[in-house]
Amino acid sequence: MTVLPERCSIRENGQDCPMPPEFVISIKSKDDEYMVGVTCDNHKKIFGDKLESLQKEGKVPQGSIHFEGLKPVGTACIKVDPNDLIQL
Ligand SMILES: [Zn+2]
Repeated sequence: MTVLPERCSIRENGQDCPMPPEFVISIKSKDDEYMVGVTCDNHKKIFGDKLESLQKEGKVPQGSIHFEGLKPVGTACIKVDPNDLIQL
């Protein structure tokens, strides 16, 4: 029962990005995968960079950052609240 956000998870200067999401971002660790959020094409790189720095700070799970083109499949579940993380 996953409902993907309708908009990019990035918030910049207190404003939510209005773009529709194009990629699902997840972190793949040894035997688990954490969906972190969704992003539009414009914010894809920024989101990845941000996640890397959050990993260094230990705020998100370690592992490789994975982008997947958004398809209406909905199997992943959100284990990390993007609202807590993605403030630029
Ligand atoms: Zn965006």
